[in-house]
Amino acid sequence: MSLTGLDIFKLTPKKNCKDCGFPTCLAFSMKVATGAVEIEKCPHMSDEAVSKLADATAPPMKTITIGKGENEYKLGGETVLFRHEKTFVNRNRFALLLSDSMTDEEIESKITSIKKVNYVRIGEEMRVEIVALKYEKSREKYLDLIRKIKESNLNIVYMLICEDVEVLKDALELVKNEKPIVYGATKENYEEMVDLVKGDELPLGIKANNLEELYSLVADIHKLDYKELILDAGSSSIKEAFDNTVQIRRIALKEEDRTFGYPSIVFANELSKGNKFMEIALTSLFILKYGSIIVLGDIDYTRALPLFALRQNIFTDPQRPMRVEPKVYPINNADENSPVLVTVDFALTYFIVSGEVERSKVPVKLAIPDAGGYSVLTAWAAGKLSGSSIAKFIKESGLDENHNCKKLIIPGKVAVLKGDIEDNLPGWEVIVGTDEAMHLPKFLKELQQEATAV
Ligand code: SF4
Repeated sequence: MSLTGLDIFKLTPKKNCKDCGFPTCLAFSMKVATGAVEIEKCPHMSDEAVSKLADATAPPMKTITIGKGENEYKLGGETVLFRHEKTFVNRNRFALLLSDSMTDEEIESKITSIKKVNYVRIGEEMRVEIVALKYEKSREKYLDLIRKIKESNLNIVYMLICEDVEVLKDALELVKNEKPIVYGATKENYEEMVDLVKGDELPLGIKANNLEELYSLVADIHKLDYKELILDAGSSSIKEAFDNTVQIRRIALKEEDRTFGYPSIVFANELSKGNKFMEIALTSLFILKYGSIIVLGDIDYTRALPLFALRQNIFTDPQRPMRVEPKVYPINNADENSPVLVTVDFALTYFIVSGEVERSKVPVKLAIPDAGGYSVLTAWAAGKLSGSSIAKFIKESGLDENHNCKKLIIPGKVAVLKGDIEDNLPGWEVIVGTDEAMHLPKFLKELQQEATAV
């Protein structure tokens, strides 16, 4: 709910003392209402008023923190229904399900899968972030399962899926310090569950038979003054899960009803009933519509490559291109006798080109001028990559003065810049490189051989 300047004014001490830098409390309140100044700038505001205002100005969807240390992630905190309206903030996290009814071989195989699928795409580590540990029948086996995961040294957040509070107490003794998610609060056990997690403020996953029941359950938990929640959208059918995730998000953001202002969890493994391809399709759907945690049955590269790429694309800010810092990057131990290769600062281009240069094993200095974060052709068309801008960067980076090898390779797609660069950079040999990055290793090796032959 947004507050007007007058609403805020009513909460100020009305001293007109100017300590906040404004001539009157009203002038200060008007600025706070526009978001230009924080309420804390008034040192005389009572704690009660600050907390009232913090509640009223908080985003409609709460941000929930899961995990600890290098395995800490934020969920929720979204402010828009569609990415093009502004941006999505906290990406979905993938969970992999294990249970105490699995054999040792199955458990080992899933641990191996989690370890195996771990790669970097556009500077971001791609891996499963959560292990969902489901209690099915044996308390001892369940506790053994948790111990086994701990011993496997996975970098992971624990999610304990269990409705039995007594079993959960023992399970939490093993991983309480890791800030695990505790999933399994229902209308039957929610009071005990809240008691269990409240002291450590652990995120609590709650489930119900339908949306109305879920709404009442959240309201009941609010009465216990607990708000670290994750909502299960239901998994009795694909239609129900989809309808519910959309409804939960719409009610939170459009109607500003904070009862549903929480991240959600979707069990894609259950909805797909063991069909791997259906699981990939459903996970793609819930990346877009609005699964904050998506539980998978297993992970391998056929699942990971499309899913992680889709997530990364959806959770980049559409108003800000993904960029790398404009500078000179030496690759393969390049020194002042290595050729210089120019490309743009668009992150995807940079990582593809640098990957191919690494693959060539040829020492190269990769020169990245400020090209506005665009791809090569877009930057050229927008006037952000020109002969003079490349020449200026080569001079300003010190390469013109301190570099012995005066060979400058430019992208094949902007071969048209060759003459212009030569005019602006006397003494440099401008070589037109390949159109596609994938052909760079062969091109660079041939260039190296030519240089050695001379
Ligand atoms: S510091 Fe507080 S009390 Fe003083 S003028 Fe500003 S808003 Fe009013």
